[in-house]
Amino acid sequence: MQMIMAASRDTYPNEFAAALRVNRRHIITELIMIPGTISGNRKALMSLYNLPIDFSIIGSVHSHPSGNYHPSEADLKFFSGFGMIHIIVGYPYDLEKGTWAAYNRSGERIELRVLE
Ligand SMILES: [Zn+2]
Repeated sequence: MQMIMAASRDTYPNEFAAALRVNRRHIITELIMIPGTISGNRKALMSLYNLPIDFSIIGSVHSHPSGNYHPSEADLKFFSGFGMIHIIVGYPYDLEKGTWAAYNRSGERIELRVLE
């Protein structure tokens, strides 16, 4: 999560997007940034569709520079077609302030335990 927050801050005021990869113990251990996804438009998320098929990729993370960390209509559409877990982080990207949330494919909030 620290890495996600840092990447989001670095990309601000643009949106940051990456795929999430899990290890064998179902812990999210890796962010996969795809060249070209760090851009200031909605296409960032969509370019995740171009990833090769990889079953360790469990979902996505992206930032909302607006500070609102609820999924937009476009986000919900994307969630339903990609992965299982989706994290949205809202500006100011502060872990202690808790300006982030995780959602399932249906856009319902889910609990994620933060290890680091
Ligand atoms: Zn979004």
